[in-house]
Amino acid sequence: MLPGPYERWYTEMAGRPSPVEARSTCDSCVMEPGSPGLPPEGAFDPALRCCTYHPHLAPHLVGGILAGGSAAGQAVVRARIAAREGVTPLGLGPTPAWEATYQRVTAVPGTFGHSHEILCPFLAASRCTIWEHRGAPCAAFHCKFDRGAYGSGLWQLIVIAFNAIERALARWLLGRQGLEVKLCDDLLHAQGDRALEQRAWGSWYGREEAYFVAAAELITPMAWADVVAIGGRELSELGPALRGAVTRFAAMTAPARVQRGGEVLYRIGRAGHTVLQHSAVPFDVLEVPTPVAERLQKLQPGPLADLVSELGLDDDLVRRLLDWQVLMPAP
Ligand code: SF4
Ligand code: SF4
Repeated sequence: MLPGPYERWYTEMAGRPSPVEARSTCDSCVMEPGSPGLPPEGAFDPALRCCTYHPHLAPHLVGGILAGGSAAGQAVVRARIAAREGVTPLGLGPTPAWEATYQRVTAVPGTFGHSHEILCPFLAASRCTIWEHRGAPCAAFHCKFDRGAYGSGLWQLIVIAFNAIERALARWLLGRQGLEVKLCDDLLHAQGDRALEQRAWGSWYGREEAYFVAAAELITPMAWADVVAIGGRELSELGPALRGAVTRFAAMTAPARVQRGGEVLYRIGRAGHTVLQHSAVPFDVLEVPTPVAERLQKLQPGPLADLVSELGLDDDLVRRLLDWQVLMPAP
């Protein structure tokens, strides 16, 4: 479910609620050691899970935390405001130090879900302390998708849509509160410049908490029509585009002809089995008998029905091979 007003706006845009990914069961994390279906790289560190990441929180989300979030979430935000670290009128993001650490740590593959150095400051006791106010990228992240690579693609579209929405709302907010867009943009790239900070915050300097709470009060109650009125043409086109994508996604049927998908790694699995790993959903693998994998690996374009009958594939496996793009539509 999307955070704050986003679920409401999404439902108005897409004509249905956001997708439910039933296989990413965060209350009982499916990436912990010993879980079934782990990728070849193994489990995440249970203390970190998938939160080796730092969100960029829009001003109204920061205000939502301050006005009604958990005490732990509020403490992180207040400490950041007091230290003037990673906080601008455009919201709250990584500090320069966190960003530098992230660049260094992620230069080595396999650190996601493993490096304590890049743990999100909002994670405490393996739980997100700002769940109701987390950003769209956090809400969109799932280690496992009901519809595999296609499901991941739909969530990426949702993130792109909310990035556009947040940009439009932030520009509007700055104007509404008497702040200059250019100064605030400049501050994003020059954190620690105290003189610039004072100019960018203008009359809100020293009253940053009040600024964020006012952002939440102004933006959270908005209907989608209010957001579109602010965002103009770009946002008015977003709704139909998203609704079209969601409708096509729900109506997808098996193609008559298939070919081998190019984004899938074939890796050694349990005895007699091969693991199929799509680059878009690396934590969500399929495991098939090795003879099936060998046939798929050498597949030439041809009728799906022939392949199904030759390999004796059941309907569920065919659907997953298609959703994970192991099999792609062929001309
Ligand atoms: S999305 Fe994250 S917390 Fe949820 S089940 Fe997957 S790894 Fe665990
Ligand atoms: S904001 Fe919450 S969900 Fe997002 S990375 Fe941090 S702890 Fe995880």
